[in-house]
Amino acid sequence: EVNISCSVGIALYPDGCEPNKLIARADAAMYAAKRSGGSKHCFYSPDMDAAAQANFEMVRELRHAIAHDQLELYYQPKVDTRSGKFTAAEALVRWRHPQRGWVLPGEFLPVLESMGLMRELGRQVFEMAARQQAAWCAAGHRLQLSVNLSPSEFADTNLLDTLQLCLARTACPPQALELEITESMLMGGDDRPMRTLQALRALGLSIALDDFGTGYSNLAYLQRFAFDTLKIDRSFVQAPEAERPLTAAILGLCRALGLRPVAEGVETSGQHQWLQGLGVQEFQGYLFSRPLPPQQFEALLPVPG
Ligand code: C2E
Ligand code: MG
Ligand code: MG
Repeated sequence: EVNISCSVGIALYPDGCEPNKLIARADAAMYAAKRSGGSKHCFYSPDMDAAAQANFEMVRELRHAIAHDQLELYYQPKVDTRSGKFTAAEALVRWRHPQRGWVLPGEFLPVLESMGLMRELGRQVFEMAARQQAAWCAAGHRLQLSVNLSPSEFADTNLLDTLQLCLARTACPPQALELEITESMLMGGDDRPMRTLQALRALGLSIALDDFGTGYSNLAYLQRFAFDTLKIDRSFVQAPEAERPLTAAILGLCRALGLRPVAEGVETSGQHQWLQGLGVQEFQGYLFSRPLPPQQFEALLPVPG
């Protein structure tokens, strides 16, 4: 069962409006409808310009941030419970805002994505991660680092060239990197996503399916796209008792397809023990560590050798 909703923004012409402002006004009205809960319509009113202005301001600041290296990566360890050691990590972007302090990706990535600015940030993120990983490899650390890809990056026809260039520039071994994508990026009916994944694989990169269970969870995709890792979304990891059989079934599916499951968002030792009992070996979540700045993360790594 799929529930969809629709928010409508309405702007009137002429009503004191220049023709070239009409779409922007309808857009501002639509965002107002979404902000007030969605599934409704809103007529444009001048106070909505303030919200649009705030959005505009954020985009301006983000452009500045991208150009002036105000974006940083935090690293969240993934623990392998066979050895009890941190053997992998996920790179997560953070924005160090001069006035507001640290801003989380949930606040600014959707703005970048909707403004078509995500590719530049994505390139920067990948290059930062590759550079850091090259340094860790050179220091003798053996850990796999995963980097998230956004929908527009995945759809970008220059993606392969961009990544290849970053890998060459940073001298990072591609085998030490994994890309996390989400299911919605694979939909669309044509074979482009498949070809992109094959080409990424051919570069030597591993592929993880992120947030599994939150989208359409198309089982045919799991077979067809041959991922290396399946990240079980935290809604399944934190599932109430009654919904736990579903999580167990997903893990059975992983085993049958030869996928490596990683449990995301593990917060309690109860969740950890339950999933370990179901055969999960890799865990990521606040129970083990929050995402950390590089120096703090490094201090947790096993001594190389
Ligand atoms: P994600 O890829 O699923 O990343 C996991 C998110 O869950 C991170 O949030 C992480 O801090 C959070 N998390 C980890 N453990 C726990 C836990 O035990 N409990 C709870 N409640 N949360 C936990 P974060 O860093 O705010 O990132 C949110 C999302 O933004 C990410 O979800 C990813 O989709 C996106 N994102 C983050 N960094 C990047 C990036 O560099 N590029 C792209 N394209 N997307 C990114
Ligand atoms: Mg992820
Ligand atoms: Mg996730």
